Amino acid sequence: MSSRPVRTRFAPSPTGLLHIGGVRTALFSWAHARKHGGTFVLRIEDTDLERSTPESVAAILDGMHWVGLDYDEGPFYQMQRMARYKTVIGQMLDSGHAYYCYCSREELDAMRAEAEARGEKPRYDRRWRPEEGKTLPAVPADVQPVVRFRTPIDGAVTWDDAVKGRIEIGNVELDDLIIARPDGTPTYNFCVVVDDVDMQISHVIRGDDHVNNTPRQIHMYQALGAEVPVFAHLPMIHNDQGQKMSKRRDAVSVVDYDTQGYLPEALLNYLARLGWGHGDDEFFTLEQFVEWFDLKDVSPSPSRFDRDKLLWLNAQHIKAADPARLAERVAAFLADKGVATADGPQLADVCALLKDRSQTLVEMADQAEYFYRPLNPTAEVVEKHLQPEDEERLKLFAEGAAALPQWDAATLSAFIKDFVKQQGVKMPQVGMPLRAKVCGITNTPSVDAVLALIGRDEVLRRLAA
Ligand code: GLU
Repeated sequence: MSSRPVRTRFAPSPTGLLHIGGVRTALFSWAHARKHGGTFVLRIEDTDLERSTPESVAAILDGMHWVGLDYDEGPFYQMQRMARYKTVIGQMLDSGHAYYCYCSREELDAMRAEAEARGEKPRYDRRWRPEEGKTLPAVPADVQPVVRFRTPIDGAVTWDDAVKGRIEIGNVELDDLIIARPDGTPTYNFCVVVDDVDMQISHVIRGDDHVNNTPRQIHMYQALGAEVPVFAHLPMIHNDQGQKMSKRRDAVSVVDYDTQGYLPEALLNYLARLGWGHGDDEFFTLEQFVEWFDLKDVSPSPSRFDRDKLLWLNAQHIKAADPARLAERVAAFLADKGVATADGPQLADVCALLKDRSQTLVEMADQAEYFYRPLNPTAEVVEKHLQPEDEERLKLFAEGAAALPQWDAATLSAFIKDFVKQQGVKMPQVGMPLRAKVCGITNTPSVDAVLALIGRDEVLRRLAA
């Protein structure tokens, strides 16, 4: 292992939503940097002009902000680095690590057809590759050349992947790849290497869909005389049917989890467990994750996305969260439903009461609604809990409640117990109609706490309705 300062990066292409797999890659890169007191860089790989969109860039930046993965440098945009890539291409040509290739499309097609006819992998026959004593074809007048990288012919590329272990690829597998197109624009593998060299990236942590690029990239590091970083290729995430997650079928933008009432720490906790583990620990904070994280504990096999587990973790993180913070998000959900909270109980107090019984903040907002306006009881609730004798009893209850010296959960609890005794009934025969009448539903936290929060005037008003 090298002793250079730890610098990692997340390098998304802005060609769609920032989805789960991308955030997991960002999380592991970020955690590795944080753990080692290093630097985390954000780089937007926007050279694919046809597929890159400003909306996608915005989705990446918003998503990173929402999950709270802070970057120390960037965002850098590859499109703003074109001059630099061109300079390096010039250097590669000068040093003989790259060369111009004037093959026309027809020639390349013919090469491909011949290779296929021989049952071989289609490859470039190195026709324009300069060699000692070799005479190159005459330069055609009408062809704009591409620039090809001069890949070593013999030997193999080997690296110790921090996740997948030792990998060796024979150079016969690799072509003299194109690093600049006829119009001079650089290609993907080349830009990544120039950036990772210039940004002094020590650990390239990325999805294992890039593992085939790595041997080509290692050759380019060597050609540039640069130190080869540590590579860590993270396993894929499969969907709940065990299929590879596809952008089209499974992509949910990470900010959609916000809209669905997830806490970012719950999502990160869940993603941390996809392909990595610390004993049997399921629920943990981001701080714990950073403390425990080690690339060597990342599993090389794919993991499966399990929505129920994410939901369970969300419930745990809601329980652990500060009610005032939950209230900020729940207030927005309530506002979307047209529920005004200004005149009712403090929303943070409501959230404190509900946080043990909500799997998402959307659910919490649904439950919070009756603290601000009564819900309409369903026919079933009326049938079960709001019969004439229940209404009679609630009237008596209201009279007693109006006269209580104080209005808090303890006073109400004592009063309800006395009332139940005095009526000669069981607790549910008072508790359920009370909930049904005041809240509109019967599935609520402890009735004394609910009544206390709603407040005396409002409770009496609802009981009289
Ligand atoms: N831009 C690439 C992607 O979004 C990542 C390249 C890399 O991490 O080296 O898949």
